[in-house]
Amino acid sequence: MNKASNPARRDFIRNMSKAAISTTLVLPVFSSIACAGESNTGDTAGDIDYTQQPLKYAYNTIEPVIDAMTMEIHYTRHAAAYAKALGEAVKDENVNTGSTTLPQLLSKISKYSAKMRNNAGGHYNHELFWRSLKAPEENNAPSGKLATQIQKDFNSFEAFKTQFTDAAKNRFGSGWAWLVYSNNKLVVSSTPNQDNPLMDLAETKGFPVLGLDVWEHAYYLKYQNKRPDYVSAWWNAINWDYVQQRFSTI
Ligand code: MN
Repeated sequence: MNKASNPARRDFIRNMSKAAISTTLVLPVFSSIACAGESNTGDTAGDIDYTQQPLKYAYNTIEPVIDAMTMEIHYTRHAAAYAKALGEAVKDENVNTGSTTLPQLLSKISKYSAKMRNNAGGHYNHELFWRSLKAPEENNAPSGKLATQIQKDFNSFEAFKTQFTDAAKNRFGSGWAWLVYSNNKLVVSSTPNQDNPLMDLAETKGFPVLGLDVWEHAYYLKYQNKRPDYVSAWWNAINWDYVQQRFSTI
């Protein structure tokens, strides 16, 4: 998706026009933009493309939830390898990356090789994962429309947390837990390996609003075999402003 067709950018431009006509709107509009800019990458769902983007924070930013060495190895080796192999696969399998967005490729991934599936998923999932993290804080929770939708579809934020945590803990072997917008509601799912809900072969298809990497490489140095401790700590490091931003692009 190019930047001009990005719904969030269209809203931004629309809001800016409103702000220009009504001075009473200037302050709220600008303060919300300032918050978004300070606390996340500014990327929205459509901006995850075929290349690995620089991390917008230092490797130690997510400590103590995720240690700096895990972040560095995860980003510079594991995730970089998915991006590199994706570049090879799109070349080998003649994907025109100028006219096919990464979500579009994922939506017909069953037509491609296992290398494409593993690395297109691996690259997309990690780009989403980095953007969804921030310096940890206590009582970290979503607000606004996303909080309302979670309340509506899960009854409470606590009930959602329990369901998501169970999905992450119970995913056997390597994979991901997801908050997915599917058939007009938010649901929790999990996928094996580097699959994700955008793929045509996913059990629960939809838009991945939030994803948690539960491969051992994501947590083993600090947590060893204790995946539940990693999942439980991760709730404090979710960048809900970014997740909310993704949700608003649906
Ligand atoms: Mn990973």
